[in-house]
Amino acid sequence: MADISHAKDGSGNIVVASLNKLINWARSTSPWYFQFGLACCAIEMMATAASRHDLERIGMMPRSSPRQADVMIVAGTVTMKMALRVKRLYEQMANPKYVISMGSCATSGGPYCQYGYHVLKGVDLVVPVDVYIPGCPPRPEALIEGLLKLQEKILDERPIQDTVSKNLKTLFSKENKQSSATPSAVPAE
Ligand code: SF4
Repeated sequence: MADISHAKDGSGNIVVASLNKLINWARSTSPWYFQFGLACCAIEMMATAASRHDLERIGMMPRSSPRQADVMIVAGTVTMKMALRVKRLYEQMANPKYVISMGSCATSGGPYCQYGYHVLKGVDLVVPVDVYIPGCPPRPEALIEGLLKLQEKILDERPIQDTVSKNLKTLFSKENKQSSATPSAVPAE
C-alpha cells in the first residue's frame, strides 16, 4: 500500500489544473460512440471494437442509445431514405457531440457518387462532421487514427468559455432583464 503520511503537511495528492483541462481530459478519454452501421464500413467498425484492436483501450465503448453517446460514427452508405433518420438520431444526442464520417460513401457518396441517385453525396449535408476517414472501407487502424484525431480536437476545446459563459451571458442578457423587469399584471380590486 502506498505511504500517504507525507500528505499530512499538505504536499502530494493534490493536482492543480485549469477546469478546461480537467473537463477536456475527462471528455477526450471517454468518447462513447453510437452503435449503428449503415453498410459494409460498419463491419470494419465492428472489427475495430473487437478483441484484436480493442477500442476500449482508448476509452471508447459502444452505446445503443443516442442519449448516452458522444460520438456518431457514420459507417456506410447514407441513402436518401436514411439521411433524415441519421439527422434525427444526431439531434437526439446530448451536447457536446461529435461526428466521424467513416469511408468514402459517408464522406462523398463513394462508388455511388456519379450515378447513385438514391445516395446522399456526403453526410455533412445533414450533420456537421468533425473527422473524415478516407478509404473503401477504411481499415481498423484508420478508424483508430481518426478517433485519436478527434481526441486531440477535444483536448483543444475551451468548454468553460464556449458553453458555461455563453449560457451565463444568455441568462443575464438584455432581453431576460427586460422580461424580468416587466411588472406582472395586478388583479383589479
Ligand atoms: S465506402 Fe466502400 S466499404 Fe464503405 S460502405 Fe461504401 S462501398 Fe462499402
